[in-house]
Amino acid sequence: MDYDVIVVGGGHAGIEASLASARMGKKTLLITMLVEQIGAASCNPAVGGLAKGHLVRELDAIGGEMGLCTDVAGIQFRILNASKGAAVQGSRAQIDMDKYREYMRKVCHNTPNLSVYQDEVSSLLVKNGNEVYGVKTKLTEEFTSKKVIITTGTFMRGLIHIGENRYEAGRAWELPSSTLSIQLKELGLNVGRLKTGTPSRIDANSIDFSVMDMHGGDINPSPFSFRTDKSKFSPTQFPCYITYTNLETHEKISSNFYRAPLFTGQIEGLGPRYCPSIEDKVNRFAERDRHQLFLEPQTAMCTEYYINGLSTSLPIDVQKDMIHSIAGLENAKVVRYGYAIEYDYVDPTELKHTLETKKIKNLYNAGQINATTGYEEAAAQGLMAGINAALAIDEKEPFILRRDEAYIGVLIDDLVTKGTNEPYRMFTSRAEYRLLLREENADLRLSQYGHNFGLIDDITIAKVENKRKVIDEALEFMANEWVTSKKETLELLEAIGEERINDKVLLIDLIGRNSIDAAKFDKLVPNYAFVDDYLKEQIIIEAKYYRYIQKQQKQIEKMKKMLKATIPENFSFKGLAGLSNEVIEKLERHRPPTLFNASLISGITPAALDIIHLNINIKQ
Ligand code: FAD
Repeated sequence: MDYDVIVVGGGHAGIEASLASARMGKKTLLITMLVEQIGAASCNPAVGGLAKGHLVRELDAIGGEMGLCTDVAGIQFRILNASKGAAVQGSRAQIDMDKYREYMRKVCHNTPNLSVYQDEVSSLLVKNGNEVYGVKTKLTEEFTSKKVIITTGTFMRGLIHIGENRYEAGRAWELPSSTLSIQLKELGLNVGRLKTGTPSRIDANSIDFSVMDMHGGDINPSPFSFRTDKSKFSPTQFPCYITYTNLETHEKISSNFYRAPLFTGQIEGLGPRYCPSIEDKVNRFAERDRHQLFLEPQTAMCTEYYINGLSTSLPIDVQKDMIHSIAGLENAKVVRYGYAIEYDYVDPTELKHTLETKKIKNLYNAGQINATTGYEEAAAQGLMAGINAALAIDEKEPFILRRDEAYIGVLIDDLVTKGTNEPYRMFTSRAEYRLLLREENADLRLSQYGHNFGLIDDITIAKVENKRKVIDEALEFMANEWVTSKKETLELLEAIGEERINDKVLLIDLIGRNSIDAAKFDKLVPNYAFVDDYLKEQIIIEAKYYRYIQKQQKQIEKMKKMLKATIPENFSFKGLAGLSNEVIEKLERHRPPTLFNASLISGITPAALDIIHLNINIKQ
């Protein structure tokens, strides 16, 4: 074999897959169309956001690259939902897109075991009808490998729409991947069509920022990566600006609905529900008199701004008109017009939890090809596919994260068991155990795995272990320490502005009050006042969630026990109240021997498992 692993595509998924595989000692080849575009951000110049920030932190904790790159290329850092609970906060950074690409390209070129080659993979080399053993490229090169990971993003049979105009492309002005998905279909995979879109970019010199609200970064920005030294982190930050559409904009859009590819039937694929185009928003929310827009710098040069919220595939004359109707953009010059793109994806229920396809051996899919949208979702899958391909070569146990361990576990489980017919993006609401799955504890949850795979070094893991030790000791201390309503305690509470206590309370419940901050913590738990601010913040968060976490952990234990339950051979799923006919049909067809096996079938939700479990117990 020429290589252990071949990765097709140098986008966000492909980068993480290649780096993970190479760093795990596997001879890896990354084949991508334009090496300059390794790590290109096709759409918004930003990484993270609600739930997406979780994915980046988890990926980072396991040893992925996205967080480190964002810390280097970031030009504005914010914690979203900072005033809400830690579980629903999300880190977000504006990035310098050029710097991001430069960094990722450099890392790919300089990672031992990893080779980079520019070409288009036109087909897979397949033997015995369903075993992949390499790839063939457009320049007719053939490379053999033990595993192939496809991460082609929006490129497979990509078709760009701008008004009545259509042209084949993978992304604006880049060639599409025209043959690969045809072969995937011939090999028996269920291939579908989706769409996504992007707004125009405008020349900074033509924008009147004076009429817009400025939107800056955090005063004390936090890095994305657990491996970036927080004490030395002081990036130069650039502002974004806020403006709004208005009734005139909406009129210009709606009077041209008849020319909008989205409505004329020209676009067949479904688009991302939570990132709709402006024509879709104006159509669906006709009662709204304005929509908020963010102007985001594309790079630190601030020559071009991305208009977040104005994604569109309307004809260019309409795009120009609608932009000019917006406050501050009256004289805006467009550098690049917005467009929509339709592309082929592979139904993710074709995949195992390892991201290997069920029907074709040695073939893994990761990223937008699996019907997701977003750099973070793509990168997380890439990392998991890279790790699993490397583990499979060594005949080791696969790496599957459970839903209670990580958002990455939720993402992959949702995709491979439920599937999706529209672009899937991550939300905190998708995670049942979100109180456990916080951004700030991703290293505690996951870094040990990364260390086991050789992706996290000894120094980093030692820091994580120390952090865990201090937090656990502090929690144990507080969970066993009674605070009584003696005179000194009441005086102390009054002095720090805290409500009195009656009789006695456990210290952990006192620290769990929402009003407790680091200064109050120091007074109430003086024996832990010595720990650094970052760690202290974590102890306080853990104390706040202590009771809920205990409850969730009990539920998880219950679920783990439940999944072990065997399903009797003669058990009939037919007629079970609460299960849809589709679910019953699947269960009857697969006849899973245990609830765990049932949980791996696409469409079988935790609620369905509960119903089966209950009925097994009743019928036994
Ligand atoms: P990509 O980043 O697309 O990378 C694919 C890579 O594979 C490219 O480098 C390409 O050259 C290479 N490649 C493809 N085929 C081959 C082949 N046959 N041989 C060799 N190399 C190949 N995400 C959001 O979250 N919100 C949005 O609003 C949003 N809008 C978008 C709008 C547009 C127009 C586009 C194009 C994307 C948008 N995205 C959006 C999606 C986001 O860009 C992707 O989710 C993310 O980049 C997917 O990462 P990926 O690694 O799967 O693929």
